[in-house]
Amino acid sequence: MFAEVIVDISSGSVDKIFDYDISGFDVTEGYRVYVPFGNMRVEGFIIRTKNESNLEKSKIKSIIGAVDDFPCITKEMIELMHHMVKLYHLRYIDVLRLFIPSEMRSGRVKSLSKKILKFVGNKQKIEEILRKNAKKQIELLNFLQNDVKYYKSELNEKYSSVAVNKFIENGYLIESDEKYLRTPNYNVVSDKKVVHTDIQNRAIENILNNTHKTSLLFGVTGSGKTEVYMSVIEQVITKGKTAIMLVPEISLTPQVLSNFKARFGDEVAILHSGLSVGERFDEWKRIRFGEAKIVVGARSAIFAPLVNLGVIIIDEEHEQSYNSESNPRYITKDIAEFRKEYNGCPLVLGSATPSLESFNKAETGQYNLIEMPVRINGKEMPKIQIVDMLGEIRMGNTGIFSRTLLYELDNCFKNKKQAMLFINRRGFSSFMRCIDCGYVAKCSDCDVSLVYHKDEDKLKCHYCGKRYRALTVCPNCKSTRIRQGAVGTQKIVEDIHRLYPEVSVFRMDNDTTRIKNGHQKILAEFAKTTPAVLVGTQMIAKGHDFKDVTLVGIIDADQSLYQSDFKSVERTFELITQMAGRSGRNDSEGKVILQTYAPRHYCYKFIANYNYKGFYSKEINLRETAKFPPFTKIIRLLFTGENEELVKELVKKNYEGIQKLAGECEDKFVYIDAMKSPITRIQKKYRYQILIRIKQDDSQSIIDKIYNTCDKYQNPKVSFFVEINPSSLT
Ligand code: ADP
Ligand code: ZN
Ligand code: ZN
Repeated sequence: MFAEVIVDISSGSVDKIFDYDISGFDVTEGYRVYVPFGNMRVEGFIIRTKNESNLEKSKIKSIIGAVDDFPCITKEMIELMHHMVKLYHLRYIDVLRLFIPSEMRSGRVKSLSKKILKFVGNKQKIEEILRKNAKKQIELLNFLQNDVKYYKSELNEKYSSVAVNKFIENGYLIESDEKYLRTPNYNVVSDKKVVHTDIQNRAIENILNNTHKTSLLFGVTGSGKTEVYMSVIEQVITKGKTAIMLVPEISLTPQVLSNFKARFGDEVAILHSGLSVGERFDEWKRIRFGEAKIVVGARSAIFAPLVNLGVIIIDEEHEQSYNSESNPRYITKDIAEFRKEYNGCPLVLGSATPSLESFNKAETGQYNLIEMPVRINGKEMPKIQIVDMLGEIRMGNTGIFSRTLLYELDNCFKNKKQAMLFINRRGFSSFMRCIDCGYVAKCSDCDVSLVYHKDEDKLKCHYCGKRYRALTVCPNCKSTRIRQGAVGTQKIVEDIHRLYPEVSVFRMDNDTTRIKNGHQKILAEFAKTTPAVLVGTQMIAKGHDFKDVTLVGIIDADQSLYQSDFKSVERTFELITQMAGRSGRNDSEGKVILQTYAPRHYCYKFIANYNYKGFYSKEINLRETAKFPPFTKIIRLLFTGENEELVKELVKKNYEGIQKLAGECEDKFVYIDAMKSPITRIQKKYRYQILIRIKQDDSQSIIDKIYNTCDKYQNPKVSFFVEINPSSLT
């Protein structure tokens, strides 16, 4: 017997299928195996077995053995691998690595067993023997009971290993091994059983009956979508099938996790970045062995090795984080579509602010549209008030808070309530600038402005993390008049402290949440403190449900509006609408203050009226006129390398190749240009790109031709990536 093997080495030159002999080994498709490769022993994945090989028998080496005692890649995932390699122009091995916990490779994590102890002595007799001053041993003896299992590590900790070992030596405690799985702890609440509304019942039925088309569940925040998802999953499980539910990493809040645990108990496995290496591995194994039938997780949970899928749900489907933006690049919805087709199950995309692309598909009949237009408790959405910040400046207020916002903050704190202040930037301020010559401090490796972090008094590069001394003297003109640019989270925290010393302030951004469970700790503290303010970046915009929040302040709404890509307005609409949804979720009325320097921008009118469909119509027309997605596909070919000349030369060759291709395919290409990337250098690597827009119809065959063209001109010193409809072009 022979096997086709992909070896676990990430290099373009060995990303091929190799034949090995597996005669005499008990392995099949999907197993990981050790194979001889050159003069090394490496791990590999069997992707197919066969009776014959086209190679000469004497040239085929035998595998060395199996890595695991089970096939860790399912048949479905092997097909998915082929699909992804073709769709995104990826290496086999880079795709396969997505399918198993990274820690499994090279045996970096193992299954665990724990030492357990059982007490078998006679308490009275032992007590007589023990010396009176053996305090720990006496305590231990008092604690122990017959027929109870104790973990050795726990007893050691409480009663000292000396005491425990004495008991083992004397035969009072019998030691044995127990295999165990590291399952994360959740604070399980009791399951809230609710009676579904008619709208919910219709949505559930509609989803379950649609295995053909993908469903778009368009429901305002608080319309009861989560309850719909849970009921759909419940029904699917009852039929003996399995389910995947994806949520953005940021929304994997303790609340969500405990709700799922409460409803589904051990049948649910949860995958998120807060898990330890061992926990992730063990959760993955529970899924692979069919012990967990429901997987709730962030993006990569779409690769969960469940078989017999009954439903796939992608909540907050508009979230950018569903696209992987580093190698291997992939679009989660594409993967979900593949698995939906393979399993013949429903796929649901849910959102209060669907991506324009998805809503367009619903409008044109490619998706099945399900609407949930009202909140469960029948409450109105909080009122959004737009404040013109230029007007504030004219009135002499140059601070970061408008008078309206200050007035509302006063009110909020007086009533012992909570506020959330949103700013799309962490750190103290955006940059430091010399006001005499205009010099701005930049990262020497990345060519982006550095951000000032006051707590450390350092400038930091947000792309590579490098730190620099804060500017006091301009290196360009020696002036000492250095000013900070626009504000960030730290500056707001500082101002609130000064204005409201009695109010508790919490900050949530990439800096404060870096530690394990950082998010959860901050959120838990905030939830039980009044009056209080939570200041944060977009991390605080999504999913949270705090009953005492009655005020949301958006400090500078325009920041996301002026990013230079075609999605920036869509993103602003979505972000602010989501943020507004955090206010007034309980009995008290909520308010939203939106500060802007461009109050007449069309998007704010739609935001203030919660008019998604109005916004959609306006924006989709603009896209059509300008030939942007969803009417075209954007393809970015990104070239990076330390030698700028080499990168440029290669870009030129590829550009000419694409030009030629465009000539051959007549009117399929809408736009081709080659340029420096907006961020010209990251971690010492120069970045150039070719941007292409092609017409939507027949796009995959054009993309294949582009891949073929680019394959002709490559250079090992220059990295080359392809992105289809990238959500940001930095
Ligand atoms: P969404 O996900 O659409 O924002 P949720 O599913 O979180 O909305 O529902 C909002 C709130 O309404 C939650 O507290 C939820 O428990 C509650 N809820 C959902 N469905 C019902 C129902 N049928 N009856 C009563 N309360 C419900
Ligand atoms: Zn200067
Ligand atoms: Zn840098």
